[in-house]
Amino acid sequence: MTFENLNLIEPILNALKTEGYTKPTPIQAQAIPYILQQRDILGCAQTGTGKTAAFSIPILQLLHAQPQNGQKKIKALVLTPTRELAIQIGDSLKAYGKNTGLKHTVIFGGVPQRPQTDALRAGVDILVATPGRLLDLMAQKYINLSYLQMFVLDEADRMLDMGFVHDVKKVLKVIPEKRQSLFFSATMAPEIMKLADTILVDPAKVEV
Ligand code: AMP
Repeated sequence: MTFENLNLIEPILNALKTEGYTKPTPIQAQAIPYILQQRDILGCAQTGTGKTAAFSIPILQLLHAQPQNGQKKIKALVLTPTRELAIQIGDSLKAYGKNTGLKHTVIFGGVPQRPQTDALRAGVDILVATPGRLLDLMAQKYINLSYLQMFVLDEADRMLDMGFVHDVKKVLKVIPEKRQSLFFSATMAPEIMKLADTILVDPAKVEV
């Protein structure tokens, strides 16, 4: 299996070459085709398996295929539990997306909000966020999620462990029902499956 076999576009293939990636990891080989077909995903994968690229690459490819004119709207939201993960996902989007013209930003708590709101005002296609800061900036009207097409819940098990379930549910209430959702968790305990059921429609299951 190669990245070419996954039908990735040239700008992304070139970026992956620059990163030194020679072939997809198992989670990437499984998940990328489903995501490009715009299926929902229930993914069971730990950190270290390459799951960040497994969702970042197809998000970039699907959004790149759309006309990019006028003011940028948030079309993909990645919700992740910690600042470290958020920064890491932002770094991945920057690396894989550098030839796509797509914009992203990362927002998390514990730092001044001004640089984050400046970036949002300038317009982004993809927003990576931790739940608290996302709800905070939404309440202040810096964030409009009504154009959202893709929603990623990353590390759902840690999200629940850290007590973010209500925050996640608040976000789900304000995003379009018609969307593609990607759900990743290292474990699939019953309460995780319950949450997944409220988010996903006929998901493809991928496991590594
Ligand atoms: P993750 O599981 O998303 O935290 O990724 C773990 C690490 O694997 C990161 O440092 C990635 O840069 C790296 N990585 C992801 N996909 C590949 C790949 N196909 N080939 C080589 N390294 C990769």
